[in-house]
This record gives sequence, structure tokens and C-alpha cells, in this order.
Amino acid sequence: MEKKSYDGKTDHMQKLIFPTLFLLLVVLLVNLLLYQYFSDVYFSYGQTNVEHNLCPHGYFRLGTLKNCTPWLSCEAIKREVRKLKRVGEGAVKRVFLSEWKENKVALSQLTMPELQEDFTHGLHMLKSLQSKYVVKLLGYCEEEFVVLTEYHPFGSLKNLNEILNLPKYKHLNTWYNRFLLAIGYVSIIHYLHYSPLGTFVMCDSNDLDKVLSQYLLTSNFHVVVNDLDALPLVNKDAGELIKCGHRELQGEFVAPEQLWPYGEETSFEDSLMPPYDERTDIWKIPDVSNFLLGDVDGSDLVRFHLFDIHLACKKSPAERPSAQIVLDKYRKVLALLVRETVMPSTRDML
Ligand code: ADP
Ligand code: MG
Ligand code: MG
Repeated sequence: MEKKSYDGKTDHMQKLIFPTLFLLLVVLLVNLLLYQYFSDVYFSYGQTNVEHNLCPHGYFRLGTLKNCTPWLSCEAIKREVRKLKRVGEGAVKRVFLSEWKENKVALSQLTMPELQEDFTHGLHMLKSLQSKYVVKLLGYCEEEFVVLTEYHPFGSLKNLNEILNLPKYKHLNTWYNRFLLAIGYVSIIHYLHYSPLGTFVMCDSNDLDKVLSQYLLTSNFHVVVNDLDALPLVNKDAGELIKCGHRELQGEFVAPEQLWPYGEETSFEDSLMPPYDERTDIWKIPDVSNFLLGDVDGSDLVRFHLFDIHLACKKSPAERPSAQIVLDKYRKVLALLVRETVMPSTRDML
């Protein structure tokens, strides 16, 4: 009897072992595939750094070219670059799709002489801050107020929804890719605030459209900053703060400390306007992120997880988190959501 019951138990266990092992194998395989998928997209996101930084300072490399080429000079630009059509215009620059040795490039020209200083500052910043976060500089002609940069056919971040709605790219319109863009955007703010040259404030940012127009959407759906004309330096050690321009700012988009604080009875006077620092950029992060996250399946869940940090961004300047803290939180939320997307399959199946 004892033997029989022992055998029965073994039988029962043997019957269970194989399906369980099989199920575990399937679960492992599914997880492996999902992990592969997410890490593929995630890691390819970082790879452009390497590509971008392969050339030393003062040199560039374009897609089809093998070698690093020195930034083009006035003469080379005049000789070798051909303007094709206008693709953009802001207050400072008029931008033309152009051709250089069968490559599409972007040629920017000063719109009016009054803005020479902004143009030159923007060029100086472009030269100094070249990195994976900044549009690639290909050449310039300082005397003629001409800058040559890599051309990005999708244009500025303003076009994001339009592009992601095209049948060709609809499959990329996911919370995941959109969240990566938001992380890309916060990474740029982080880079500007902690740059090797000091803390810069993205001042050309008085409304959402304006902010978006300063960034470009690359063909592999990353984001780079393009317009560095209005980028004052905050020197906290020297107690130097900044002001974004000399005129009165209004509206809810700009940070409260950028508004005239003395009411309507007293008219605005630049000399009486208190200066502020890079935390105006932090105030604007939730609005930009909201746009980038858009309205797709899962983007509200991302918003839910970012709720607290976004609330903190809207506090008084001293209470706002640094770009480092915001970026850390964004990355944590991404990791959490990826884990949650992968893990439920495990839970459901076991
Ligand atoms: P401004 O300093 O006058 O504001 P920007 O540098 O912001 O000029 O450029 C104006 C617009 O031109 C951008 O918002 C974008 O739409 C377009 N643009 C600028 N550079 C490029 C580029 N490299 N590739 C594609 N479009 C560009
Ligand atoms: Mg601009
Ligand atoms: Mg500008």
C-alpha cells in the first residue's frame, strides 16, 4: 500500500513537472524577447552619442562620409554650398535647405542687422556646446552671419504630432517612444544647466510653440537643441542671476518670477525687474513633457507616474527640483514602466 501511494505521488509529480517546466520556458522566452525589444530601442537611443563624438572639436562627419572634415570656412561655404529652399524662419535666422557635396545641409542667415549680437552668441554657443544634445555644426562664416548645420527633414519639435500621425510612422507613435523624447528633452535641459562652461538658461521659451521651435526632431526620432541664441549664463558663485530679455513677459507659460512683480499700477521698468536663474526652465518642463507625451495608449499612465515631480516643478524657485532630480525621476519611471510591461505577462501566465 505504502509503495503504491508513493508511486502515485511520483506519477502525479511527473505529470506536473513537464507542463510547469514548459510553461516556465515559454515565460522566460517571452520575457527575453520583450527585454530584447525594449533594450534594443533603449540602447539605440544612446548610440548617437558615440557617432556624434567620433570627430574631434572643429570637425564633423556626415552620414555618407567616412572621414572627419574640418568645419567649412567662408570660402568653402561660398564655393561649395548651394541654397535650395527656405525651410524655416525665426526672429534671428532665416533657414534654407541647401546642398553640400550631395548632402542636404541647413544654411542659416541673419534676418536683420539689429540682431547680430544674438546671432553671434548663438554661433559661439553652437561651437562650444557641440555634443549629442546639440545640432551638428558643419561650418560658419562669422563676417557674413552664416551658419551651416546638419539638416533635419522633420524640422522642429513643433511637427512631432503631424509626423507621428503619418501612416509611415504611426507604429512609432507609442508612449514609450514619446517618453524617450521627453527624457531626451530633459537631458538637454540637464546638459545646459550642468555644461562644462557653466549653467545656461534657455531663454527663448516664452510659450510652448516658441520652446518647441528651438529643438529639432531627428530622422531617428531623437531630439537635439538647435537655437542657442538666447542662452545667458548664470554664475551662481559670483551671485550673478539673469533676465530673459529686457521687456515685460506675460502669461502662464513663463515662470512666475519672470513676471513683473509690482502690479498694474506701476508700469514695467527693466531696471526694477528682479533677476532669476535656470529654475525658469524647470517650471516649463511639465508643459513641454505633456506635449511630447501626447495622447496615445499609455501616455496617461506616464503622466500619472510623473505627477509628483511635475507638481514640484511648479513650486516656488527654491523648492523646485534640479534638472538632475527631474532626469533621475524620469529614468526611474521609464525603468518601472518597462518592468511593468514585461512582468505582467509573467504574472498572468503563472
Ligand atoms: P531663430 O534663431 O530665428 O529662432 P532657429 O534657429 O530657431 O531660428 O530656426 C528657425 C526654424 O528653422 C526652426 O524652428 C526650424 O523649423 C527650422 N530649422 C532650423 N534649423 C534647421 C535644421 N538644421 N534642419 C531643419 N530645420 C531647421
Ligand atoms: Mg528659434
Ligand atoms: Mg534664435
